[in-house]
Amino acid sequence: AKSTAHNMYFVYENKMADNINAHLTLGGGLRKAIEEEQFVLHYQPKIRLPDESVVGAEALIRWSHPELGMISPDQFIPLAEESGLIIPLGEWVICRACRQLQEWREAGYRPIKLSVNLSSRQFMQADLVDMVQRILEETGVDPKYFELELTESMLMADAQQSIEKLHGFRKLGLTLSIDDFGTGYSSLAYLKKFPIQTLKIDRSFIHDLGLDCDNDAIVKATVAMANSLNLKVIAEGVENRTQVDILNSYKCQEVQGYLFSKPLNSVDFALYMDIHGFY
Ligand code: C2E
Ligand code: CA
Ligand code: CA
Ligand code: CA
Repeated sequence: AKSTAHNMYFVYENKMADNINAHLTLGGGLRKAIEEEQFVLHYQPKIRLPDESVVGAEALIRWSHPELGMISPDQFIPLAEESGLIIPLGEWVICRACRQLQEWREAGYRPIKLSVNLSSRQFMQADLVDMVQRILEETGVDPKYFELELTESMLMADAQQSIEKLHGFRKLGLTLSIDDFGTGYSSLAYLKKFPIQTLKIDRSFIHDLGLDCDNDAIVKATVAMANSLNLKVIAEGVENRTQVDILNSYKCQEVQGYLFSKPLNSVDFALYMDIHGFY
């Protein structure tokens, strides 16, 4: 028994060492990766209900690592946050997303709304609104086709300052979305103090749709309340038809998830638009 415990300890220690190594390797490579632009954005379609046409997309970053291949944001965004590299990286994301919007436009695609995720450290950046304004101007993107996805916890860190910042964004003409809604502690009533336009219901609630009455009741009430507050509601993580049928019956306006498409590179997204981008 003693040797088993010892071995387990060993395995555990090695795993920790692996994690630490991965941490250091990725962290050290991150600065270089930014300089060498080893990042790509993928785009996941947002689908309008009930007609199921593409009305938007969410930009999701990937690190195209020369040795390790595609690395998901969950593995390096936290590192970028810790090191402060999220500031240049976040700017790159906004810039790339705006350029992409213009490229699709020039290629003749009907305009869609593109959203970008912000991280908390990025949101605290003092000149964030100015930076976004500059990029919108430089790229010529009509701000009504640009959306920022924020989380409740980001807003709650300093509510008063957040409200001011959000008003700054609203003056630019873009829209603001609350991501992962339902995972924080704030009520919709409280959130209405913030000038937001869209509510994105977290995929944990969508996953259980049709499987758990209490969960269904929560989603139904959230959609109804959002609708009565004139907020657009989108459900993320939609993976099957049952979920779509239920969301339709609740009058949820938009859905996003693997049922329709996984996040696609810009070329594949354009092909997707060719097929599904009807009015
Ligand atoms: P998120 O903003 O909640 O993004 C949704 C995540 O769910 C994405 O993972 C997406 O690929 C995944 N997803 C989409 N549809 C489905 C589905 O039907 N089922 C399931 N199980 N998952 C689905 P991804 O791309 O790995 O991104 C993970 C997180 O990384 C994002 O969560 C976001 O918080 C962060 N992130 C991604 N790109 C950026 C970025 O440019 N900047 C910042 N700050 N964070 C980013
Ligand atoms: Ca998001
Ligand atoms: Ca989300
Ligand atoms: Ca999330």
